[in-house]
Amino acid sequence: MRSETAPLLKGSATVGFDDSSDGNSFRTFTHSPNKLPAGGPSTLYEISLHRSRKRTLEKGFDARGSFVHFAHRNLKSVVQFEDVLDRPGIRSCLYRAKWYRRPSMVRLKNFMTSTFVTLCSFASLLVALFCSDIYAFLGAADSAQSDILLSAAFVFFLLEFLGNALSDKTYLLSFFFFMDFLGTFSMIFDISYICGADVTAFDRLDLEENKGGNGVMIVRAARAARVGTRAGRLSRVAKIVRFLSGGEDISQSNVKMAKVISNKLSDVLSIRIAFVVILIAVVFPSFSILEYPAMEESMSAWTDFLADEVTNFRQGRTSQAELDDVVERMSAFYRSVSYGPFLACYSDHRTSATQELLECGGVGSVKLEFQTEFSRPERGEFLLVTSAGKLDVFFDMSAPQRLESLMAISLIAFSIIAMLVFGTFLSENISTVAIAPMERMLDVVRHRCAQIFKYTAELQEGSESEVEESEHPDEHEESQSNEFELLEKAVSKLSAIASLSAADSPKETEPLNEDDLLVMNWTHGRGFITYEVDFGTQNVPARLRSHQFSQKDVVGIESMYQQVPSEMLVLSRTEDFNPMEPTSSQQKALCVIHLLDSPGCKDFVRGSINPATLIHFVDAAEANYSPVPFHNFGHSLDVLCSLSLQLEQSQAPLFLSNVEQFGLLVAAVGHDLGHPGVNNPFLIETRHEVAVTYNDRSPLENMHCAQLFQILRQPETNVFMALDKETYKELRKDLIEAILHTDVTKHNEMVKDLALFYQMNSDTLSLREMPQEVRELLQSNRSGLMNSLLHSADVNNPAKPWHVAKKLAYLCMDEFFAQGDREKELNIPVGMLNDRDKVNRANSQIGFIEFMIAPFIEALVSVFPGLDDLASNTSQNIENWARLWQAEAAPPPEQAEKVAMRVQKVVVKLSDAGRRGLASRAVTKDM
Ligand SMILES: [Zn+2]
Repeated sequence: MRSETAPLLKGSATVGFDDSSDGNSFRTFTHSPNKLPAGGPSTLYEISLHRSRKRTLEKGFDARGSFVHFAHRNLKSVVQFEDVLDRPGIRSCLYRAKWYRRPSMVRLKNFMTSTFVTLCSFASLLVALFCSDIYAFLGAADSAQSDILLSAAFVFFLLEFLGNALSDKTYLLSFFFFMDFLGTFSMIFDISYICGADVTAFDRLDLEENKGGNGVMIVRAARAARVGTRAGRLSRVAKIVRFLSGGEDISQSNVKMAKVISNKLSDVLSIRIAFVVILIAVVFPSFSILEYPAMEESMSAWTDFLADEVTNFRQGRTSQAELDDVVERMSAFYRSVSYGPFLACYSDHRTSATQELLECGGVGSVKLEFQTEFSRPERGEFLLVTSAGKLDVFFDMSAPQRLESLMAISLIAFSIIAMLVFGTFLSENISTVAIAPMERMLDVVRHRCAQIFKYTAELQEGSESEVEESEHPDEHEESQSNEFELLEKAVSKLSAIASLSAADSPKETEPLNEDDLLVMNWTHGRGFITYEVDFGTQNVPARLRSHQFSQKDVVGIESMYQQVPSEMLVLSRTEDFNPMEPTSSQQKALCVIHLLDSPGCKDFVRGSINPATLIHFVDAAEANYSPVPFHNFGHSLDVLCSLSLQLEQSQAPLFLSNVEQFGLLVAAVGHDLGHPGVNNPFLIETRHEVAVTYNDRSPLENMHCAQLFQILRQPETNVFMALDKETYKELRKDLIEAILHTDVTKHNEMVKDLALFYQMNSDTLSLREMPQEVRELLQSNRSGLMNSLLHSADVNNPAKPWHVAKKLAYLCMDEFFAQGDREKELNIPVGMLNDRDKVNRANSQIGFIEFMIAPFIEALVSVFPGLDDLASNTSQNIENWARLWQAEAAPPPEQAEKVAMRVQKVVVKLSDAGRRGLASRAVTKDM
């Protein structure tokens, strides 16, 4: 567990991680409001279990909790480079170092990122980049002023460099670290008193010693190197680009994660651009070093020529006039160019001092002055002396050298503009192409989450603190790809979750017929008009009927087995079993047998539950079921058998205890106790006693549940007698939840929760080779899964083989129609789903499967691949109903076509879910 992440979060939200050694595995994660658990993984897990239980009570399902886990985990990985920490190496040591968490270092870091330091840094950068060239351009006589400025910038850079290296763990050994190092230390070549050139000294070209022009090349190389190292300082401009590209529109955004991502992207981009521009700026001038020395040869030629002339004159071979003529010709030659000679001196006594040279004194010296506008430049650097023999010619090179400085300034300025323009341009593009859509997407997700998750406030708080932490993002190029992989994953997950959350109603927009709408209304518990009628209580036992036991009822378990033919017993353990067919006593016997010998909890039941109690319980339950067409005792046996089979196929012993499995089976027997054959809206609209008793909130389900626990109150029928008080309390909670969730109005919510649970944990759920992890995950959500399993056993008629499904569907619709008949008798409007004269049975089943059953089965099979038979049966059934409907109703071809397309969609979705299941099943079998 990495507790150091804790201080990063503000307020009460505290986060801890439990790393598993395997990089692919998910981390157990807990969100504790007050304290960080001190123990290892087991403590964390216990707490998360405890919390999930608590939350389950409040919310019914743990998927929302999982979302917070997921979102936090991924947000943190994106922002804080979790992966860097997992890898060995210098960077990871730096990240772990306690040094950077010292209060003094944190203060220093804040200071380093303050506006004051940023402004100073900017000013120093301008000095470092332009100062020497500007002074050269202005032709300053000495470098005193530029030395002062450059020294100040140099000292500031040194301090900034040290400060960042000391206080920012992301700076050390990063791209900017090395560039700053280069840029800062290259400044010693600009400061004249350290390693810089003396601008008061002149260049001397001795033609005797320098025939090959090497001197020119050396001069030129030195200049190129100077510009090049200066370009190294451009990396600081990249920082400004980064600052600018964190554009306004993004910082205004309320989506913090998008801002963080955008900052990271601009970072990466500005580094890349800076690198290219700097490379160009450094490399370009260096190409000219090896060029043919395109020295202006006229200067040496004239110098040579003039030296000969002066020698001839000195030896009396030529006249003064002839010498003057040569000088005049030379002056004329340079009048058309921007540089030229202003003085030549022939002297026997050569000195090195500039002043004496220029005065050209001494015995026998000849001083020649040129009639040009050129004069001695104030800046020594601008003076070029060419020597041939005893003659020195002084050239004024101010203009070309100023031009050169101007070019250097332009190069730097151009580089900066290129960086700024391309940096802004690219980050703008990135923001349009990637960030803005992502931001919109995240905004939708956040918005949706705010609607469903009550944890949004905590999440927001968490991510805000993370953004603060990331204000000084770093440059882990190696880790970038990982972050974005994670992000991609997060976004795809989030979008899946968002679309699930958004699926309040079926997305199909093609016109629905009235039957479909009715099915949908039914699932939403609407579709009834208020009418007050007198509804007799004779068929609706609101109170428990007493059950008389005689000693004769207490028979051995073996007699139960004797009552059921062995083929029927075998059949009852398959999905081909039709529970409505056996006789009443056979149904009861089967009920006892399945409670007693369900594979998952057989040993527990055989060891702890008194068989006589079990028989009494079943008798009492049977006595409280009404002889309605569908919701009779046969249905309860149906749910029991289906559940028993599903518990086995879904490997329930992995995540449910014996007691929980047995409790769920008992709930299956009792889940429709006293069902009157009419639905909740009917009871509510008719102001029936049951509806009034339970304040219209799932009146039937509340009644079923209350009746079940009334039966369990009697010692003779209390099958939970053996449980201790605490276990019974927990179990009662879970069973009440499960039975209340058999209300169809809870159906859509349950489908959504289950699909969310799958989406958020698909990685773990596909790890079938790691049962422990899957187990922990399922365990942490077992209350929600118990609800789903009981509900699926309750409504899975359409997921049974066709011959059973069809019969059960007809029975169910008979009950609806019976309700419709009563509605007609009571002279109240008849719901169209209940009107035997208007409803086409096959067509209503298509709608029922499409909107209710298929999405549920799809989600269920995704989570429990072992249940994939449900998916294939459902596909076959919807196709069969479609065929039946075509045969019965002979719809117009256009309508038939539409329905066929809808059916096809459902079939495709179900087969996808089934394939996913088969894939992970294959992995399990390969083990
Ligand atoms: Zn039921």
